Amino acid sequence: MRQGSIPGSQGRVRPLTLLGDPLLRQPCREVTDFGPGLARLVEDMFATMYAARGVGLAANQVGEPLRVFVYDCPDDEEVRHLGHVVNPRLVEADGIVLRGPEGCLSLPGLEAGTERHDHAVVEGYTMTGERLRVHGTGFFARCLQHECDHLDGTVYADRVTGWRKKRLMRQASRTSWHRQGPHA
Ligand code: ZN
Repeated sequence: MRQGSIPGSQGRVRPLTLLGDPLLRQPCREVTDFGPGLARLVEDMFATMYAARGVGLAANQVGEPLRVFVYDCPDDEEVRHLGHVVNPRLVEADGIVLRGPEGCLSLPGLEAGTERHDHAVVEGYTMTGERLRVHGTGFFARCLQHECDHLDGTVYADRVTGWRKKRLMRQASRTSWHRQGPHA
């Protein structure tokens, strides 16, 4: 990406992987090639995230089982956080646990109260291989935990419990995009 250019402006909007697709359930592979293919993937991920009006996106949500995510996400103080992380590791997730509304581009149109830590730190690399450390609080901490979950093959619905879980899965089963079950 050229300096000063808007992330995603050179990218291609890719189809989103939706709940029921096995790609969302497999842990993603570490990135080993930090070449132009990775830069293109990050650019496509920004384009796709913005087109879908998301605040974060993991690579397996656009069909690439690689450990990469992008974000453009506010925290609870309305501070904007914009960036990407390659081979992220969630090194801290602590502070109080809050249940807040959470949604996902792979479960479009749905949301459910989900418990997350209020503080998170992710370490990883930029697309050019420089070390990176990202701190988040509030809604941005939620986003960091959500994207790290994706790369491990987990979706937020897995963390929803009780009646919220039942309601979410019932709503999911009624959507046109949901293709679980024997007729998949
Ligand atoms: Zn998601």
